[in-house]
Amino acid sequence: MGIIRKGHKEEAQRMKYLRYEKDGRASYGLLQGDGSVREIAGDLLGEFEPTGRELPLGSVKLLAPVFPPNVIAIGLNYRDHAAESRAALPQRPLIFLKATSSVAAHGEPIRLPAEAPGEVDYEAELAVVIKKTARAVEAADAGEYILGYACGNDVSARDCQMRLDSQWARAKSFDTFCPIGPWIETELDPGRLAIRSKVNGKIMQDGSTADMVFSVSELVSYCSKNMTLLPGTVIMTGTPNGVGFARKPPVFLRAGDVVEIEIEGIGALRNPVI
Ligand code: MG
Repeated sequence: MGIIRKGHKEEAQRMKYLRYEKDGRASYGLLQGDGSVREIAGDLLGEFEPTGRELPLGSVKLLAPVFPPNVIAIGLNYRDHAAESRAALPQRPLIFLKATSSVAAHGEPIRLPAEAPGEVDYEAELAVVIKKTARAVEAADAGEYILGYACGNDVSARDCQMRLDSQWARAKSFDTFCPIGPWIETELDPGRLAIRSKVNGKIMQDGSTADMVFSVSELVSYCSKNMTLLPGTVIMTGTPNGVGFARKPPVFLRAGDVVEIEIEGIGALRNPVI
């Protein structure tokens, strides 16, 4: 928050943009160093500017920071997670899609679906938010197309994913299965960030984005060569090891649990389970 000293380099200003509801009205805001929110007029994906209106963070209801036109997700993008899944490392990024209707906000309950309530699992993921239309972008230029980063949870119904269905679409797309937030951090180097998940306060995943098979830049490039990335597109960049299905005994989410996804430099995305 605020001014962060990065080694002996110059100070870098963290910029956390959020979306919130107050008095029935949705707005974008900028999280300030003192914990207050400065309202933003306009659209984060277009023209915007801060207004003079300030609110305490605790007085607003956080919304998902973006409503993406597509949620692209990457499977098996951390070596240790591929190993715990008993899967070979992918030769190229393994792309799947999550329905945009699965997006949920910080604090919003993850609902165990009636169709498949028994094997719902968490996946801590760095979520990349695309700023402007990207088509056949090279990895060296990918940064120009990235608005920022949020914590993401690629919630997954493992019974559907692994046994009942031959595609992952349903397993990954139940309503509330894609929490994103709590905000978008725009000033961040994604190359070596601690990434964790906790269930009821217990650390379940404890990894580093340095262990990605394909880097953020490579993923943006690859995805953009295969489909146009529209402004607001979210890329979920894969999860480190420690997911519930691979634990002995397996750990699946139950009503009353609280899941947190923490990423260094961003913050913590927290969702109860009902
Ligand atoms: Mg995933």
